[in-house]
Amino acid sequence: RIAWLTARKGTLPAEQRIVLERAGVIDPANIEDYILHDGYAALGKVLTSMKPEEVIAEVQKSGLKGRGGAGFPTGLKWSFVAKAPGTKKYVICNADESEPGTFKDRVILEGDPHAILEAMAIAGYAVGADEGYIYVRGEYALAQERLAIAIAQAKEYGFLGKNIFGTEFNFEIHVHSGAGAYICGEETALIESIEGKRGEPRARPPYPTTHGLWGKPTLVNNVETLANIPPILRNGAEWYRKFGTPSSPGTKVYTILGNVNNTGLIEVPMGITLREVIAIYGRGMKNGRTFKLAQTGGSSGSVIPASLQDTPMDFESYNKAGVSLGSGALLICDEDTCVVDLAKVLMNFFRRESCGKCTPCRIGTYRAYQILQRISEGQGVLKDLDELLSLSENLVNLSNCGLGQTAATPIKDILKYFRAEVEAHIRLGVCPTGVCTMLPEK
Ligand code: NAD
Ligand code: SF4
Repeated sequence: RIAWLTARKGTLPAEQRIVLERAGVIDPANIEDYILHDGYAALGKVLTSMKPEEVIAEVQKSGLKGRGGAGFPTGLKWSFVAKAPGTKKYVICNADESEPGTFKDRVILEGDPHAILEAMAIAGYAVGADEGYIYVRGEYALAQERLAIAIAQAKEYGFLGKNIFGTEFNFEIHVHSGAGAYICGEETALIESIEGKRGEPRARPPYPTTHGLWGKPTLVNNVETLANIPPILRNGAEWYRKFGTPSSPGTKVYTILGNVNNTGLIEVPMGITLREVIAIYGRGMKNGRTFKLAQTGGSSGSVIPASLQDTPMDFESYNKAGVSLGSGALLICDEDTCVVDLAKVLMNFFRRESCGKCTPCRIGTYRAYQILQRISEGQGVLKDLDELLSLSENLVNLSNCGLGQTAATPIKDILKYFRAEVEAHIRLGVCPTGVCTMLPEK
């Protein structure tokens, strides 16, 4: 990483593009353009010269971890599905990107749709599946259109369908549109939705790797995770491990939002720090203001205070620091950001998006929102903070799925890093940043 930064010192901010390599470069509606840029070379190599177990071993060797937010080792997940008993298996691409502020998967789907088809076919070969689904967020109409074009072209060219590359491998892909529910990004709710049921999460375990779509072993991978697969198989695991950190190899696509001079999408090696992202790609804080905190991964990520801005952004370093990288949205906030207001907005999102299946989440998010609302209006009491912490514990320990389990993160983070600011709203009746409209400025 240091070599990478040094090599680019004094030049324009450079990125390390692996998954976004072709996005914006090729015509996404033209399969020949994709083929001219190494497209389907990995699938050809895999089908004609590698056994399924060799493909899985290569993905495991690459150290790739899930880019949807959780960072689960991809090769390990593939091996679970491959080993699961049964002859009918599925591959699902989770493209229900609904995390507020996250639009990385959208750019991949719209700019390089064949890369996802190629990756899914490789995954299908590796785990023993002959059918795949891409569950695309309902609002991503252009992505759905481009995927439909890409699927038709791939079938015409023999990269999907029967006897791909003249082998005995068959693979079909269907596109399934979401209908606007955030919870359908949770893998088991997504599976229920494809099955035509209400999008409510199942209890896990059993995991989809053994009990997935229609009860069959199913591999569910995020768009960005899959987009890493063809380059890994084309260039080898050792090549891939040259990027990022030893424990989190490769790159990560981030969306930069908020109070910086330059917002947008970047792909950089894992392990870059927040300070570097802000200085190099954000071109510094807007109007010379001071960095106060970042919200990573939309609503279900963490609140990162300035004291953690030099922590390498990789799964292990963030885990060790007790924070989460999430899906890669970086909301950069300056000193005019009120933490009570931030937590209130996030909790409002969770209470509206809770599917309502389990009580700790359905009631807990609503209660937490009400308390934060009261605090921001100058009506809070110090006991409210104990109740917020107790609600947070219940959300983490008793919720059925990731939505409820991560809903408490903003509350816990603001009370851990910014307790004095929250207490000022209650004890002094002021909002130190002057953002809460019902409270006077300090
Ligand atoms: P998780 O850690 O429970 O699981 C991650 C993946 O590993 C899942 O596919 C799961 O099936 C698999 N897995 C874990 N343990 C397993 C085992 N023992 N056997 C087989 N498979 C196993 O995380 P999650 O609840 O699936 O997802 C939560 C994450 O999603 C959060 O980190 C959040 O940041 C992210 N998220 C992303 C978005 C987005 O738009 N990209 C939206 C909401 C949440
Ligand atoms: Fe639904 Fe929330 Fe329970 Fe998840 S935790 S199943 S979103 S009610």
